[in-house]
Amino acid sequence: MHINFIERKGRVLTRSTLKCLSQVASINPTLGCVHQCAYCYARGYSFYPGDGTVLVYGNMPEKLKKELSTCRKLPAYVFFSTTCDVLQPIPQVLKVTYELIEVLFEYGVGVNLLTKGRIPAKFLQLFSQYKKLVHVQVGITTLERDIQKKIEPYAATPQERLLNIKRLCETGIVPEVKLDPLIPGVTDTESNLTALFKEIQGFGVHSACMNYLFLRPQIKKNLCKTLGNTPFLSKILMHYQNGKSMNLLAEKSHVVALDVHYRKQAYEQISQWAKDFRIDAYVCGCKNPDITEEPLCGMNWGKHFEGSSSQKRLF
Ligand code: SF4
Repeated sequence: MHINFIERKGRVLTRSTLKCLSQVASINPTLGCVHQCAYCYARGYSFYPGDGTVLVYGNMPEKLKKELSTCRKLPAYVFFSTTCDVLQPIPQVLKVTYELIEVLFEYGVGVNLLTKGRIPAKFLQLFSQYKKLVHVQVGITTLERDIQKKIEPYAATPQERLLNIKRLCETGIVPEVKLDPLIPGVTDTESNLTALFKEIQGFGVHSACMNYLFLRPQIKKNLCKTLGNTPFLSKILMHYQNGKSMNLLAEKSHVVALDVHYRKQAYEQISQWAKDFRIDAYVCGCKNPDITEEPLCGMNWGKHFEGSSSQKRLF
């Protein structure tokens, strides 16, 4: 693995083209991500440095301070991150992430953090001092290590992610779970999801955002490269034979999605299973514009930072 510091020239706070994030400032402190998830869309971007390389913007905390000090209106919160995981287990990444979050808290700006990594104790200590400014989404779709390892080879294990959830809840920060991407026939089964719901309900989690895997040429290529010519890969791709070409609620974002009837029925079914564990599982329109146009995940974070708990549900 090659880790190099580079200098950020442009602004630190940027906007995503995805509708649910378009009104939210995002920060991406690295180019590349060590987790190397087989389905990662960022691995297909022109600025992706290639597998095995992570470039860290070492000057970002300093630049962020300057940007915030000249902001006419501070953002309510910032999203970490659209094209990397800020808790990759690399000391240089964790240092920059920690410093960025410290700067944001100093200015009273909240943090919405999505991770499939391990949350270090130092971060939990920091979060415990700014609970109202923290919303965490833990990406997890299975408790089966064998499945998780195939699709997210270098991310935290399911047990480590459960530990993240447990520790966050003990700190008084109840995270949301991100069931994304669900893989048809693999992670969307009743046995897989009810086992997961049972575990997370035990910690007090009550909200889950769900989305199915969509394919782009680069994602398909990475899946083939990671999974090889195996029955596991064939099982996944089989579901996309009747897939639908679709534009996400984002600029120029064209993907192959599962048939809409499959998704509708499955989301409804998953939502019912989740309800048995008192968990609200909802669909965000950004990745399912043919089902709902509501960019729900962004609305939910917004409400968290406004201190409201009311959420609009599809099912
Ligand atoms: S953790 Fe996120 S950014 Fe990193 S490889 Fe996985 S999907 Fe991509």
